Amino acid sequence: MKYKRILLKLSGEALMGERQYGIDPKRLAEYAEDIKAVTEKGIEVAIVIGGGNIFRGVAGASKGMDRVQSDHMGMLATVINGLALQDALEAADVKTRLQTAIKINEVAEPFIRRKAMSHLRKGRVVIFGGGTGNPYFTTDSAAVLRAIEVEADVILKGTRVDGIYTADPEKNTDAVKYDHISFDDVLSKGLKVMDTTAFTLSQENELPIIVFDMNTRGNLMKVVSGDDSIGTTVN
Ligand code: UDP
Repeated sequence: MKYKRILLKLSGEALMGERQYGIDPKRLAEYAEDIKAVTEKGIEVAIVIGGGNIFRGVAGASKGMDRVQSDHMGMLATVINGLALQDALEAADVKTRLQTAIKINEVAEPFIRRKAMSHLRKGRVVIFGGGTGNPYFTTDSAAVLRAIEVEADVILKGTRVDGIYTADPEKNTDAVKYDHISFDDVLSKGLKVMDTTAFTLSQENELPIIVFDMNTRGNLMKVVSGDDSIGTTVN
């Protein structure tokens, strides 16, 4: 295995599967099985989960809501997804802990870095909910922040597309996938990998990002075992 400790970022939208909204239990169960397989190889797995399948702060604000209030709703949406993912992993017999950036002590542990690292060392999957706990941030920023804090070797951004392309592959049939690209080239070519805050934080801390298609079963295992034909590596 190429990596010892990974931070997997899953968007909320990924959990929708074929649906338009909410959580697809089948998709969740597939993710749980793929995550279980890598834990069985001794990989330590931390996960940051998004909330876009339920609520996004900017969407509320665009309809006249107070942005901070709206972002609080978005952060709580990530906690809902975190609970669902925790349930699916536990059903697959994977030991987990959910830690949240906003305290909800009755349902999850608060984020405590040393505790999170201790769970990881014990082989428990740690799910981080609530983003960074601050409005105006994204769960991509939370993913980079938590990855640095828990000293993950890499961020694996699981998406619907199989990597970074020269242009949007869903709109442009001539688009070509990069197997590997530098942080500087992503910026100079104006490619979209994560929002700027998250991307810069990763670059400054020399934390590689791999963008890959999490919806193809077995891809997660291939990525952690160092198969660089899967996805795009940014470093
Ligand atoms: N959010 C926030 N602070 C954070 C992370 C998330 O306020 O640190 C809110 C924000 O409103 C965002 C929503 O939570 O729109 C859901 O997160 P995100 O859009 O990153 O989810 P994803 O696109 O990955 O599903």
